[in-house]
Amino acid sequence: MMRYRWPKRNQSAAVLSFDVDAESGFLFREPEKAKRSLADLEERRFGPRVGVDRLLRMLDRLKLRATFFIPGWTVVNHLAPCKRIRDAGHEIGAHGNVHEAVGMLDEAQEKRVMAEQLAILKDQLGVKPAGYRSPSWDVNVWTPALLKQNGFLYDSSLMGNDVPYEIATADGPLIEVPVQWIMDDAPLFRHVYGSTNAIADPARVFNLWSTEFAAMHKENACFVLTCHPFISGRASRVRLIEDLVKFMRRSPGVWFATCEDVAQWHGTERGPAKRR
Ligand SMILES: [Zn+2]
Repeated sequence: MMRYRWPKRNQSAAVLSFDVDAESGFLFREPEKAKRSLADLEERRFGPRVGVDRLLRMLDRLKLRATFFIPGWTVVNHLAPCKRIRDAGHEIGAHGNVHEAVGMLDEAQEKRVMAEQLAILKDQLGVKPAGYRSPSWDVNVWTPALLKQNGFLYDSSLMGNDVPYEIATADGPLIEVPVQWIMDDAPLFRHVYGSTNAIADPARVFNLWSTEFAAMHKENACFVLTCHPFISGRASRVRLIEDLVKFMRRSPGVWFATCEDVAQWHGTERGPAKRR
């Protein structure tokens, strides 16, 4: 008995997603330091400058479409790599304007930030995103309704299941393509002074992610990997992701898809996908 029914009798789904934060999260969280710390800015600029293209080449080698969630600030300040993501045929989703952790915003501020990011994606890239990933996976109780009101098909920021599910709102259900901390590169690879983070050996991370994938595959689950170009654009980590996909392809019945593909499938299964 399948716990969740996937298209073409597949046993599980797998999504590679990349959050192209660049300097935006740092600008939001530490605006004063961001005025002077070239070191912190450059660490993050590695993403759009080097990481994005390296990841695009990897995805091209693997013949895979991925989902890139991009803050408005990144689009405005790093337009060329964002256009290369779009032109390579990958999905582009919304990811805040200046990577605002919405737990620090009230509803009116969050509405304004939502409008700003959508205007930038439309004006600069000609994209009306189907999906949203909240910066820092921070979601307010009113956020799902705001997403519905702005025409989003799905959100990919919550951890309440490991197959697609729905969040009820006054404007109808919002499809959730769930994430989880195990499959985020930041806690494993990102060096942060004063935290307990260690820089993980890619072999250890391969073991962690491939073990989680194999177990999720048996559970008919939706494996959503979340990586950041400024973190996982480093050479050994791009190789790790490529090795992981090759490992996953050895299991029969994995549907490699974008977040939007998964959300569309879920919507079709539960009645026509509603998008305003
Ligand atoms: Zn982010």
